[in-house]
Amino acid sequence: MAFGIVLAGLAKGLVASPLRDVSTPKYLDVAEKIRREGLTSEKAYAFLERLTKAAGLRLTGSPQAAAAVELTRAMMAETGFETWLEPVTVQHWVRGVETADIVSPPGAEIQSLAITALGWSVPTPAGGITADVVEVGSFDELAGRAEKIKNRIVFFNHPMDRTLMDTFRAYGEAAQFRTRGAAEAAKFGAAAVLIRSATFRTDRNPHAGMVQYDPVVSRIPAAAVATADADALSRLLQRGTPVSVHLNLDCQTLADVKSSNVVGQIRGTEHPDEIVLLGGHLDSWDLAVGAHDDGSGCVQAMEALRLIKSVSSAPKRTVRVVLFMNEEFGATGGRDYAADVRRKKERHLAAIESDRGGFLPIGFGISGSPDQFARLKILEDLLRPSGIQWVRAGGGGADIGPLGAQGAVLMSFIPNAQTYFDVHHSGLDMLSSVHPRELELGAIVMAIAAYVTAQEGT
Ligand SMILES: [Zn+2]
Repeated sequence: MAFGIVLAGLAKGLVASPLRDVSTPKYLDVAEKIRREGLTSEKAYAFLERLTKAAGLRLTGSPQAAAAVELTRAMMAETGFETWLEPVTVQHWVRGVETADIVSPPGAEIQSLAITALGWSVPTPAGGITADVVEVGSFDELAGRAEKIKNRIVFFNHPMDRTLMDTFRAYGEAAQFRTRGAAEAAKFGAAAVLIRSATFRTDRNPHAGMVQYDPVVSRIPAAAVATADADALSRLLQRGTPVSVHLNLDCQTLADVKSSNVVGQIRGTEHPDEIVLLGGHLDSWDLAVGAHDDGSGCVQAMEALRLIKSVSSAPKRTVRVVLFMNEEFGATGGRDYAADVRRKKERHLAAIESDRGGFLPIGFGISGSPDQFARLKILEDLLRPSGIQWVRAGGGGADIGPLGAQGAVLMSFIPNAQTYFDVHHSGLDMLSSVHPRELELGAIVMAIAAYVTAQEGT
């Protein structure tokens, strides 16, 4: 049965139409059952509570990340899914002492800066370094002050653009200083970098994230500084007298660790080798439990599959949950999943990733050919009762991206992320920052999209 016919039927709504397909009421009925079951049980939050309380901080390569692998596999087995683990080799970086003290001028408004080492950062030499701080707001400004950079601590103070409605765009623009700042400053001989945290909030919570070193440039220590502290440091620098900071980081990179992607599924009855994937990433940063990033995505994927199982018989195609390991340190889980030899016997029709926080869903993105997009746009009518306002072309994510090259239609549900970067990668990403009903609506949306795709194909 063609999607076009379903679309025509849905578009006419309740008006009797000769084009109305008999399957249309079936999908509306299943979607409504999923919505009711989800909103009644709010099981996604129960999953999240268990994950965050039992496994805690899940930095890739850590014992807690290993515990989260075992825990989520057990949770999916208890829910009645077929489960297994797939190998992923991951990096193991550990945070240590991290301090930044203003040693001159004496009596400054702020004495110690709230900082956190960036993932992959090299440590300072034992005992730390003391250097004058040079503030810049851009890479152009850095280059313009090239002769002032040598042996200094470069302070990238670029705030997120408050005027952008797309907070991910504002984040991406600000986060380039976090990822590339150390390499760019090192080209001019900087001793270390401090990066303004990527958040709209003014507070004393530093936000972690990766630094990317340039293989041909020396690696220098890199830390994020909380926004309130960045503002105070900037005010101090504006007085015109030199500001000297003692920075001490003793983070280290240990040997690689063998870890796992966690897989759970309901096998399809008609085309078991055709897969519709639901995913999030199991690893988190280590300043909080990663309740939004990306505990939410993991539990929404698990809950979506539970919802499908609870309101329908097994779908025609396999619906599979993958909890990817190591998104934060280079997305090797997504890469290794796509490259695994098991994939040779499978065809991934579609993959839906949730990694934008467990907030109220507002939209849904679908990649794929114009033809595929046109056919799947029927989801708009099925998702609207669960709060989705639009379905647009374009979708994907760091972990499912490699499946796109194998022909999978990539989808992402888009929550209202206006407050996401308040907590993202910081000590504020706690269970209490997630609302059970908002979280569940994301799982509902993912369940409906996955079920319909599993029945209809792409
Ligand atoms: Zn994430």
